Amino acid sequence: MRQVAIYGKGGIGKSTTTQNLTASLATMGKKILLVGCDPKADSTRMLLGGLNQKTVLDTLRSEGDDSIELDQLIQPGFEGIKCVESGGPEPGVGCAGRGIITSIGLLENLGAYEDDLDYVFYDVLGDVVCGGFAMPIREGKAQEIYIVASGELMAIYAANNICKGIKKYAKGGARLGGIICNSRKVDGERELLEAFAERLGSKLIHFVPRDNIVQRAEINKKTVIDFDPDCDQAQEYLTLAANIESNDKFVVPTPLEMDDLESMMVEFGIIEL
Ligand code: ADP
Ligand code: SF4
Ligand code: MG
Repeated sequence: MRQVAIYGKGGIGKSTTTQNLTASLATMGKKILLVGCDPKADSTRMLLGGLNQKTVLDTLRSEGDDSIELDQLIQPGFEGIKCVESGGPEPGVGCAGRGIITSIGLLENLGAYEDDLDYVFYDVLGDVVCGGFAMPIREGKAQEIYIVASGELMAIYAANNICKGIKKYAKGGARLGGIICNSRKVDGERELLEAFAERLGSKLIHFVPRDNIVQRAEINKKTVIDFDPDCDQAQEYLTLAANIESNDKFVVPTPLEMDDLESMMVEFGIIEL
């Protein structure tokens, strides 16, 4: 069972990419558990046809932990993908990161991590790599990390910070599996992200183009894989899935210093001095 975490800046496309990726892997016959770890709880919606499922933390609050059964926490989605939303603490109270670990712990105790699973995916918020949101890495839950980024400075800045977190907790087994570019159509984006990934000691696992079919599928409450399996964008997600399935390069990343990061952005014409 591979335990994979998807990190990246808010709004970069983690949940869209993760749902299309898991949908692709599911059509390839893989058995998957997807755990949404964003307090927004929108990591599984398109796999569930638009259903906003009750989160683990909300269920814990309303039921108490003695009487909870696994099928209250897991909803079967597209091609049998097991969908969970961890949820968050009451706004203004408690630590969202700790909530993730509470959820994962409960799922483990209830036997959600069955032997026949091929993958567990965690879709994690990555603007802040605080102690809380680093939990899946710190606690050795996710050994394989992919970072979604684009050619925009803030996306790369966040990706670099996430690499600092992976490096810090590498002793627990966390490794960077690669960078996924979710294109924002920035000039020279592919080259920049290839160079960035190389500087980290990693690689660009796939370049996912920006395509309005993603929005059309979203309005229909579906992944692109479900909405139009023959379109070009579906092929891109299937390639991403195949690249992850065959990936064997897992590294402790070498994050860049801020100066180096900025000169790299200047070199690729993204920012001017
Ligand atoms: P995150 O989970 O990182 O916060 P989302 O997956 O929710 O980000 O994506 C934010 C928005 O970007 C979504 O509404 C989605 O429609 C759009 N989006 C993501 N990836 C693509 C893409 N490759 N092409 C077009 N739109 C995209
Ligand atoms: Fe929030 Fe992170 Fe602090 Fe937890 S550790 S309270 S998730 S900022
Ligand atoms: Mg999201």
